[in-house]
Amino acid sequence: MTVGILFDMTKCIGCGACADACKEQNKLPGPVEEVTTAYTWTTVEAREGQYVRHLCMHCLVPTCASVCPVAALHKTPEGPVVYDADKCMGCRYCMMACPFDVPKYQWDRAIPIIGKCIMCTSRVKQGEATACATACPAEATVFGSRADMLKEAKERIRKEPDKYIDHVYGLKEAGGTGVLMISGVPFEKMGLKAKLTDEPPAMRTWQVLSNIPDFVAVWGVFLYGVHWITARRDTVAHHEAARKGPDTIDTTHTGRPS
Ligand code: SF4
Ligand code: SF4
Ligand code: SF4
Repeated sequence: MTVGILFDMTKCIGCGACADACKEQNKLPGPVEEVTTAYTWTTVEAREGQYVRHLCMHCLVPTCASVCPVAALHKTPEGPVVYDADKCMGCRYCMMACPFDVPKYQWDRAIPIIGKCIMCTSRVKQGEATACATACPAEATVFGSRADMLKEAKERIRKEPDKYIDHVYGLKEAGGTGVLMISGVPFEKMGLKAKLTDEPPAMRTWQVLSNIPDFVAVWGVFLYGVHWITARRDTVAHHEAARKGPDTIDTTHTGRPS
């Protein structure tokens, strides 16, 4: 079963409980910031008389994962697109490739990693809803199978056609996403990209790469470089941990900052 989140902009009351719950669930330092960062994985923004959430869309075919040379990002069988900080070499290809501008970099760190919503993958694996959906008091953020979320979205639109734009955002955008959104205001006015193709950008990325001359030859050299950089990261991180003490280094597989 592929899981999904439905966010209904017309029901959101802007309380911010989702963003607070995300901070707590993922042990992200500092207060919720105004925009998403490596330490704030979701925000709630007021626009056009309703609210919009910003978070990873958990693409069905994630471009971030397809361009990552060391497979630091990957899609789990359940649907969340997760991140392995131990593998990341900090190239930022994922940031450039994401059609929704989601991955954020730790600009304040000597050895930065990426931060983004991982759809509470540990909770999801145990059959629990995401922390943001659990915290939402207004049924604006709900969690379930993607198929059920799509059904629920269509049902809400069917029941109140005057209230909603007749479209489920994420049904086809960028090849389809695990996060679906419905709104009473055109999506582009809510700050969402409206001109994304139905084809997953990931497909086009690989088509482009495979057509670059010498791509395959360069690949081997590149991977050797990756190995060297990763080994260097480990060494530096080890020395940094030894200097600061045992609790200061991020060894999780979730992108959680230390
Ligand atoms: S929204 Fe961006 S970061 Fe999230 S899965 Fe899609 S491509 Fe990756
Ligand atoms: S799904 Fe989990 S990680 Fe993603 S925004 Fe919600 S609480 Fe945060
Ligand atoms: S918890 Fe629910 S109602 Fe509150 S801001 Fe988040 S989505 Fe909106």
